[in-house]
Amino acid sequence: MSEPESHASRVTDLFVGLTGSAPEGVWSAPGRVNLIGEHTDYNDGLCLPIGLPQRTCVAVSPRADRTLRVRSAQQEEVVEVALREVAPGRPAGWAAYVAGVLWALERDGHDVPGLDVTVDSSVPVGAGLSSSAALECAVAAAVSDLAGLDLLGSESGRAELARACIDAENIIAQAPTGGMDQSTAMLCHERTALLLDCRSWETRQVPFDLAAQGYALLVTDTRASHALVDGQYGSRRDQCREAAAALGVTSLRELEPRDLDATLDRLSSDVLRRRVRHVVTEIERVRGAVDALQADDLAGLGRLFDASHNSMRDDYEISCLELDVATETARACGALGARMTGGGFGGSSIALVPLAAADETSAAVTDAFAARGLAAPVSFAVTAGGPACRDH
Ligand code: ADP
Ligand code: MG
Repeated sequence: MSEPESHASRVTDLFVGLTGSAPEGVWSAPGRVNLIGEHTDYNDGLCLPIGLPQRTCVAVSPRADRTLRVRSAQQEEVVEVALREVAPGRPAGWAAYVAGVLWALERDGHDVPGLDVTVDSSVPVGAGLSSSAALECAVAAAVSDLAGLDLLGSESGRAELARACIDAENIIAQAPTGGMDQSTAMLCHERTALLLDCRSWETRQVPFDLAAQGYALLVTDTRASHALVDGQYGSRRDQCREAAAALGVTSLRELEPRDLDATLDRLSSDVLRRRVRHVVTEIERVRGAVDALQADDLAGLGRLFDASHNSMRDDYEISCLELDVATETARACGALGARMTGGGFGGSSIALVPLAAADETSAAVTDAFAARGLAAPVSFAVTAGGPACRDH
């Protein structure tokens, strides 16, 4: 049985254990890793994520009453909540990511039934690989089918589901994330990176098939906990808003890269200057990465990875020891480039490594962590996976 199939069968068993009957269906959605373009989504900028082969599966049946009952293989408790009681911060904890999707779709005018839902996932949770969006988008795909919304069949329908998932996370789970994660889980394609314009929400598919060129994308989950809900991410968002207001623009996307020096001179705060420099240069690096991929210039892509990491470490100040060690070690092993990915303060890094050196690189990263007394990281090579869909 392939890995996704085994999850689909485990989530079905979990469902039978919860309800005593088989689910109406099984849906899944991928985690994501962002190749480049970090903390640009909430600045109306560009990012370039791929869907992961790791997915979150949900087994779902509608219920006759207006109640949501959820159980996850990754959590202890069964959560039950009446749909009318779902509100910001309610339910608390992980079930908000499920309940929030129902809440958002209902708010959008859709007729949403009560549901029994079980969850099982191969996306590492809290590793910056977007297990939260994978969960939301798997649920949204299920609701779209079960409530007859028919939104999975078109790009615009999928974008609408992604927006409902963003609101679920921002408003009900109260995690102030941008829109990259949910858009990726809904709109990504296999062997393709998704160029996402977070101002217009336009997308473009960019070929991403490293194996064909003898390379792999090695993800390292540093196991250091990141703190999305704990204020650091929100503080970066606030600083960007403050800088935009001081510069008289509605978002940092509007700043011209060629005028960067003059723009920075207009800011009196050194911290804000560095935050703005990261965002403006990072958006340019996304453009450069797309060009590099289209020209099969992996060395060029690697240099952009390195520059992006340095910008996040020095200007945006969201790296940490684990992420710096993982990226430096990968480079020392011959990676063309390496960078932290996701919100920061822990989570995961990525490295562009020769296929033949992937195992050796992941062993070297493990050794480097051990030598510094850090908890053991987990590294794995990934390819670009497909979007939220019905599995069974
Ligand atoms: P990330 O999205 O990077 O993994 P987040 O902090 O955004 O990290 O989201 C992780 C949270 O999402 C978990 O703490 C939990 O509340 C919820 N979650 C994600 N996957 C699952 C799952 N399989 N089962 C239950 N809850 C999950
Ligand atoms: Mg998340």
